Amino acid sequence: MNNLPLFFAMKGRRVVIAGGGVAAARKADLMVRAECAVTIIAPTLNTDLSILASEGRLVHETGPLTAVNLAGCVIAVGASEDPAVNEQLHKFATEERIPVNIVDRPELCDFILPAVVDRSPLLIAVSSGGTAPLLTRILKARFETLIPAAYGRLAKFAGDYRNRVRDTLPRAAVRLQFWERLFDGPIAEQLFSGQDEQARALAEKLLQDIIFENRKGQSGEVYLVGAGPGDPDLLTFRAMRLMQKADVVLYDRLIGDGILNLVHRDAERIYVGKLPQDHVVPQEDISQLLVRLALEGKRVLRLKGGDPFMFGRGGEEIQALAAQGIPFQVIPGVTAATGCASYAGIPLTHRDHAQSCVFVTGHGKDGEPDLNWEHLIQPRQTVVIYMGLMQLPSIVDGLLTHGARADIPAALVENGTREDQRVITGALKDLPRLAEGATSPALVIIGDVVTLHKDLSWFEGDAAA
Ligand code: SAH
Repeated sequence: MNNLPLFFAMKGRRVVIAGGGVAAARKADLMVRAECAVTIIAPTLNTDLSILASEGRLVHETGPLTAVNLAGCVIAVGASEDPAVNEQLHKFATEERIPVNIVDRPELCDFILPAVVDRSPLLIAVSSGGTAPLLTRILKARFETLIPAAYGRLAKFAGDYRNRVRDTLPRAAVRLQFWERLFDGPIAEQLFSGQDEQARALAEKLLQDIIFENRKGQSGEVYLVGAGPGDPDLLTFRAMRLMQKADVVLYDRLIGDGILNLVHRDAERIYVGKLPQDHVVPQEDISQLLVRLALEGKRVLRLKGGDPFMFGRGGEEIQALAAQGIPFQVIPGVTAATGCASYAGIPLTHRDHAQSCVFVTGHGKDGEPDLNWEHLIQPRQTVVIYMGLMQLPSIVDGLLTHGARADIPAALVENGTREDQRVITGALKDLPRLAEGATSPALVIIGDVVTLHKDLSWFEGDAAA
């Protein structure tokens, strides 16, 4: 992030704008709406500004601009059509350490005035950091259509009701349940249609319901969620919803920042990752941690790369929960095989090339691959190998020794679906050499379908650029 978005309390605070034209009027409009005490310094004002001045909503001084004009001002904006005036303002403001913004001169800006979607008290500010003003405007227009005008009423209602909820529901996690149901249900609908009284009655009932429900069951629950192979866009809606609900999240190495940042920001984060050959947190400990947190009454999110039931040991984790009678949900994710296959343009099955597909792990219980070679070497079958990178030479060796064609097409997909995805293809016998230096996570796909990659690949991550 190049900038830190903040919403400042500016009511009654002095703001100076240099300039009396369109650019100044746009800035003044925003500041007048935020109830700043606006002073415009310009020889003349355009119509919009003259109206605001005649209504007493801003003060007009004709200038010329001097350092004295900035006395007591908290921010200054240079929107004059005369660059010399703007530079002068920048100099005075900088000397007085007053944050300053000069229109269309990003290098002279201490802050940015964003495009604003006003659903007061709800505000959405959009900025591209000065890089793409048009994109900012397009996004603002989208938000304008996406967010009903009545959202402001909803936010105001929530603000008025806040103390009542805080007093009635002392536990933060329980309050969250209340707000989730308020914002996404009949109460919001009533407010949108202007039925404030009904909304208030429903909110009271909801409070009572939630008190009752939470008296019944104090135990927490666990969400075992597949987060997909890397691209955050591949998360399911249900995964997203549970990521917002959780009190605590346990995640491992395969979960990138792009996904982790989508978890509710107040949720506690616990890393339980394993590095290859370096088992940081033993599986039993993870399972026990899940049990303990749930018994403390927490909503525990167990985020897993790919799909939890695909080489994810998800089964073991929920067995421990089931044994303790702890409620859980399992949410499927896009597994590495389908994610990598799609993003590499390698259909796993195809009428002309493969009628079956097998998924195997290259990492046996004691590390060495422990595979049923004959079963893998079948015509018209695609073989997908998870965790096969480290043992790739011995896997290929095993396949060739048991009769696999040396020239069968094979691929290694490194960092599939991520920006740095890399796809290496070649004959099976050459794959270990071609894949030298490749890093984890990487998936191996073997079979005639790999030939389709050359025509069907569409995804260009950074690595391809
Ligand atoms: N449950 C996961 C698999 C976990 S095992 C799933 O359903 O995808 C870890 C292995 O998955 C890695 O060694 C690698 O073979 C594969 N993998 C996971 N994410 C990957 C990615 N983005 N690109 C390539 N392979 C990946």
